[in-house]
Amino acid sequence: MLFFMKEIVFATNNAHKLRELREITASKGITILSLAEIGCYDDIPETADTIEGNAIIKAEFVKHKYGYDCFADDTGLEIEALGGEPGVYSARYAGEDCNSERNIDKVLCKLQNCDNRKARFRTAIALCTDKETVIFEGKVEGEILHERHGNGGFGYDSIFKPCEAQCSFAEMKPEEKNSISHRGRAVQKFLPHLFTL
Ligand code: IMP
Repeated sequence: MLFFMKEIVFATNNAHKLRELREITASKGITILSLAEIGCYDDIPETADTIEGNAIIKAEFVKHKYGYDCFADDTGLEIEALGGEPGVYSARYAGEDCNSERNIDKVLCKLQNCDNRKARFRTAIALCTDKETVIFEGKVEGEILHERHGNGGFGYDSIFKPCEAQCSFAEMKPEEKNSISHRGRAVQKFLPHLFTL
């Protein structure tokens, strides 16, 4: 019996995210291709002012230029007392020479003396096929801690504590974080659509 593998591109340069999705879809008849595997070395613009917009730009860029069905994700940390900042600018919050440590320092500095620590992570996944572009959203509510806790994870993990947990994302095992995280929840909504393509 002939068995055709469905191919789809994940428009990310983040090796960790790529491996995670490949593990989830393993043996499901889907091959997830990286940008490098389709010869895409473009600097894909992220010029939208929403995470949904950026996810769509990335997925549609690859579909239109390379012809492959494609999905892309974008994540933002939204802090209530900062009017939703850093939001779509989470990756580059501390400016030109930003990195995760500087981004965290900026958040902690802005929230000094602030009692309202409410925040949420939101992830948007855009899936672009011949037929349409569809968006899937995942979010997790929580609070910004007063200092860093834990060494795991990445980005803002050490200062974010989800409502349903007693510790920060950086203090959790990966599978624990994935089961309640913004990205984990977006992926769970997205997967059934992927399997019906
Ligand atoms: P991206 O859209 O997934 O690249 O995420 C934008 C920025 O949000 C990243 O540079 C990270 O700093 C932060 N970020 C994304 N996902 C997470 C997460 O799961 N935990 C903590 N920070 C994250």
